[in-house]
Amino acid sequence: MAYEADIAIIGAGVVGLAIAAEVANENRQVFVLEKNESFGLETSSRNSQVIHSGIYYPQGSLKAKTCVEGRAILYKLARKYQIDHRKVGKLIVAVDDREIEQLEALLEMGEGNGVEDLRILIGQEVRQIEPNVIAVAALFSPSSGIIDGYALMRYFIAQAKDNGGNIVYRSKVIGIDRESNGYKVSVEDNSGGFSFNTKVLINCAGLNSDNIAGLAGIDIAQSGYKLHYCKGEYFRVNPDKSKLVKRLIYPAPKLIGAGLGIHTTPTFDGVMLLGPNSRYVDSIDYSVNDQQKEAFYDSVTKFLPFIEYDDLEPEMAGIRPTLQGAGEGFKDFVIRDERDKGLPGFINLIGIESPGLTSCSAIAKYVAYIVDEVL
Ligand SMILES: Cc1cc2nc3c(=O)[nH]c(=O)nc-3n(C[C@H](O)[C@H](O)[C@H](O)COP(=O)(O)OP(=O)(O)OC[C@H]3O[C@@H](n4cnc5c(N)ncnc54)[C@H](O)[C@@H]3O)c2cc1C
Repeated sequence: MAYEADIAIIGAGVVGLAIAAEVANENRQVFVLEKNESFGLETSSRNSQVIHSGIYYPQGSLKAKTCVEGRAILYKLARKYQIDHRKVGKLIVAVDDREIEQLEALLEMGEGNGVEDLRILIGQEVRQIEPNVIAVAALFSPSSGIIDGYALMRYFIAQAKDNGGNIVYRSKVIGIDRESNGYKVSVEDNSGGFSFNTKVLINCAGLNSDNIAGLAGIDIAQSGYKLHYCKGEYFRVNPDKSKLVKRLIYPAPKLIGAGLGIHTTPTFDGVMLLGPNSRYVDSIDYSVNDQQKEAFYDSVTKFLPFIEYDDLEPEMAGIRPTLQGAGEGFKDFVIRDERDKGLPGFINLIGIESPGLTSCSAIAKYVAYIVDEVL
């Protein structure tokens, strides 16, 4: 059966769905194709659900800009559409004087990115608001919080559908061919498969987005699109201890590689999670390695002295689709129309790791702007 679409989006994670909600309107045929049986079953449901304020990313980067803008949009959406969220605030803690310098560097970076409410607290001020945390100082970010990512995705789906968009599950994109007026997309589904034409094709395939770029004929290695898998595991804390900390508590980060350090995240059911750690892996496997427990314990007891070894139980894992390999420095999101590679209207989103959840609505607006130029 031959379908004609104006816009096809590969991947029903939070980014693909935010884009669908943004670009769908009554004058366009918009489809989201998802290989799984439902939305958000991969990275978008395997993360900390933190609304980041925008501290960690170099000034002018897409990560910095979309995080700061995305954070403001998410709070607005969450308030307006009753999406569960809490602006709990976050402390990045220094446990020695050397780490205070790191906090000062982060403060400068955050302010440069437009995060206006950051301030450094001395040890006594930290103890006043979080008596069970050990720190000589902390960078306080009042505008950090958590959001129910599942509810957010449901909101985007409703918004996309209200505007005529379609979400098609169990449909895996297996081929992309350039046509005179767009792309022929080949899809595998339960009935064998089908193909359709689309003017604009948007690659939001998360951990598989480099392969999708390859399907369209892009040399992944030469373009710098090869993804690495960086696993992040979580342990949950004994519920009795979960109430001893209210805010997000992060260590001073190592600014090389992926991950912000093992931190606390309060959840909506009152249990505190610790994680994610950061381990490069070769394949996608979401099991939690119990042997990591010792490293978690050693890492968090520096600033959460009340945690005992037996308080920790394995919870879940996610995998970051990172452009930087182990030990490499910062790499930004790739969000671009591939016109200069001979593929106009093919929009790649690659390396959408953290802060992708926070940034999703700002990314969607950026992509919508590119789409308007193409259509
Ligand atoms: C451990 C961890 C912690 C994180 N914590 C945070 C955080 O606290 N705050 C924050 O802002 N961000 C965080 N992130 C980042 C955030 O989760 C991601 O940036 C975001 O979820 C990416 O969404 P996505 O839609 O791009 O990808 P995904 O959710 O992975 O969606 C991609 C979709 O594409 C589909 N797909 C792939 N190939 C095909 C194909 N061939 N055909 C059809 N469909 C296909 C997949 O099935 C999948 O559903 C974290 C990430 C990890 C791993």
